[in-house]
Amino acid sequence: MSKNTSQLNSKRKQVSQSASACGLPSHVDLSGDQSSVSYSEAEWRKRLTEEQYLVTREQGTERPFANPFHDNKAIGLYRCVACETPLFSSTDKFDSGSGWPSFDSPIDSRTLGETRDVSYGMVRVEVHCNVCGSHQGHVFPDGPAPTGTRYCINSAALRFESVESVELIVQLVKDWYQAQ
Ligand SMILES: [Zn+2]
Repeated sequence: MSKNTSQLNSKRKQVSQSASACGLPSHVDLSGDQSSVSYSEAEWRKRLTEEQYLVTREQGTERPFANPFHDNKAIGLYRCVACETPLFSSTDKFDSGSGWPSFDSPIDSRTLGETRDVSYGMVRVEVHCNVCGSHQGHVFPDGPAPTGTRYCINSAALRFESVESVELIVQLVKDWYQAQ
């Protein structure tokens, strides 16, 4: 392993370790079936643009390539667009060529839920924000090593927060977990 690769791997681990070392914030309870954050239909419509609503609340899929984050290479944090939960880090993003933002792992598997999706005659694994239930995309078993997974996510389900360094991503993640 080259020096650069091992440095990158330790930086990658920093972000997910900063999350897994923390208890969940006080407003988040993942023990029941109920989402910790929920709004009425009218409130969801008010909080989200039409495209964000279609993707996150109606399991829609935006068009490939014609979305803001598929080739975003900036350092930063990807939050759930509906509830601000930190879901993905730029340190886990890779260029899949699919036209959608792709990650090889979420920041914290507690906050990214999975369900079996049999729509469109395919068997796929759907992923959503576990805090508010917003649909994010799908996960496929064809990602790069070492995880081998590819999280194929809609830009419309994400809000990107650009920062100067990986350390600042870690800080944003910690801030969310420690919020009261
Ligand atoms: Zn959410």
